[in-house]
Amino acid sequence: MQKYQEEARLAALCQLKLLDTPASESFDRITRMASQIFNLPIAAVSLTDRDRQWFKSRVGIDHCSIPREKAPCAQVAETTEPLVIEDFAISPCYADSLLARAGTRFYAGAPLVTSDGYGLGSLCVLGTEPRQVTQSEIAALTDLAAMVMAQIELQHAFGRIDPVSGLATQTQFRDDLLDLARDHPSERRFAVVVDLARDDELSQFRQAMGGARVDDMIREASLALQTALQPARTAYQVGAAQLAFLSPPNVEQDAYLSLLRSTFGAIRAVSSVRFVTSVAIGVRPFTLGDVSADDVLRGACSAAQDARREDGAIAVFSAANDMAHRRRYRLLQDFGAALEADDQLRLVYQPRLDLATGRCTSVEALLRWRHPNLGDVSPGEFIPIVERTSLARATTQWVLDAALDELAEWQRSGSSLNLSINISATNFGEADLVERIQLGLLQRRLRPERLEIELTESAIMDQPDRALVMLHQLAETGVCLAIDDFGTGQSSLAYLQRLPAHVVKIDQAFVRSLLSGDSSDAVLVETMVDLAHKLGFRVVAEGIETQQAAALLARMGCEEGQGYLFSRPLESAALVAWLAEQDAASAASIKAA
Ligand code: C2E
Ligand code: MG
Ligand code: MG
Repeated sequence: MQKYQEEARLAALCQLKLLDTPASESFDRITRMASQIFNLPIAAVSLTDRDRQWFKSRVGIDHCSIPREKAPCAQVAETTEPLVIEDFAISPCYADSLLARAGTRFYAGAPLVTSDGYGLGSLCVLGTEPRQVTQSEIAALTDLAAMVMAQIELQHAFGRIDPVSGLATQTQFRDDLLDLARDHPSERRFAVVVDLARDDELSQFRQAMGGARVDDMIREASLALQTALQPARTAYQVGAAQLAFLSPPNVEQDAYLSLLRSTFGAIRAVSSVRFVTSVAIGVRPFTLGDVSADDVLRGACSAAQDARREDGAIAVFSAANDMAHRRRYRLLQDFGAALEADDQLRLVYQPRLDLATGRCTSVEALLRWRHPNLGDVSPGEFIPIVERTSLARATTQWVLDAALDELAEWQRSGSSLNLSINISATNFGEADLVERIQLGLLQRRLRPERLEIELTESAIMDQPDRALVMLHQLAETGVCLAIDDFGTGQSSLAYLQRLPAHVVKIDQAFVRSLLSGDSSDAVLVETMVDLAHKLGFRVVAEGIETQQAAALLARMGCEEGQGYLFSRPLESAALVAWLAEQDAASAASIKAA
């Protein structure tokens, strides 16, 4: 056998990862049948390694391997032909072999051949007496050898072929990329990930139509993709609803993107997938050998997410977006631990002042997170990530508990300060939210009016009907309700009128624009204040940074204000000191008057 052929044969054998694996009943069963059919005591599945015959399965033999030198199984592997030695004693090749010396007189072996034509070894039977074979015995041995191969290939395919789509798996993608990088280093390619549906679409679809229809959809998409790629290129399934493939080598990016657009346009036009899900495609350019398979896939998936967010069908990988995805993912991963740790989360409190008297009557609790490695992370960054997940419930509970503990502490020290907390849209879905708030108040003997719940206008408008029900329930308990970031949520007048809220907090952006010099900005804010009053709300302006803005807002009739002008959000101890200072100042001014 030529050397390079033998190397390829050995590589095929190695790839199957069979050598030196434990015995397995699925092979032993076949070996036993071979021994019974021939009525011989010895049978084996014998694999031809570089210099040994290794037995994956054996009956009647004690050792696991014999040297390859002069082993008849090696000849079967090399020729991929059956071999019968009726009597070792008169065989020119094998009379002086190890087997002959050990008393073997008879051998029959059928080759184990892969679908690529490589001979891996032999399924063999051996006897201690010379013997002849019939045609039907050889046919049976050949059939059994085919069964061994089917078993080997089945085991190998396990984990490499997705059972639903029939496409190659991510494991196969990794191996194929390694092979490509070895054979074509430095070649430019594009990895393409086709994300068939958003997670929520998939679960809605599963709920409505059942898992079998989801499988049908994935099968249909896989078939369409495989057909578009033609058999020359492989499509992979790399996630529950994510398919992937590689571009041909060295294609030009713009031309390739427009090819992808037209191909997927055509697939979409004929597929039923388009009726129920939105498909997003991510493209990751890379050089073979430079980037690991996992990074290639992750990059393409990250681009697919970009495509989704940008409402486009296709996006090319961007390192900057990818960094942001990774950071978001990391924050989400780590926030669960932060909720359990006792030194990462804390509340700070920002005073809210009566604009007419300058007195502080309430404070807003704002969450702070000190990440053990990343340092301070602002709620503007982590709240939007966390509040869309199941962590929203635990987060609000943490804030509620910490805030009510603090409020109870103030009550004990004789302060009548009120406190507001922020909750998220996801919290509306919690059937027991109202009870949890009531319980928290009861446990600490706090009157409900001391607590205010802030909800952004856009969170309310996310699920207006549900919000209305929840807000009515909350209002009935006696807690105050505030509409936060008012002016940004596009609620209608008719809807606002039905909201049982007490307060609106005009968003900082409007307050900031007051001093822009454009008089229409001031008219807008004044109109908002009037409107809020007519609807029966008390008005708080957020983000007041200058005396001028405070004075203007007071003239417009805005009752309260919050902002850096009065105070930044303060740690609990600093708040106590700040309040004492305020009291001292107002006592001094009363005295002076
Ligand atoms: P928000 O509820 O509208 O809170 C007001 C934000 O404006 C706070 O930012 C506050 O520090 C900031 N701010 C106050 N006065 C001024 C000012 O004069 N100038 C400027 N430039 N900013 C001012 P923060 O603490 O970073 O919070 C950002 C947002 O994160 C909050 O907006 C709120 O929507 C959310 N958030 C904070 N804590 C929580 C929480 O415990 N739960 C929930 N669900 N959301 C929270
Ligand atoms: Mg707020
Ligand atoms: Mg706000």
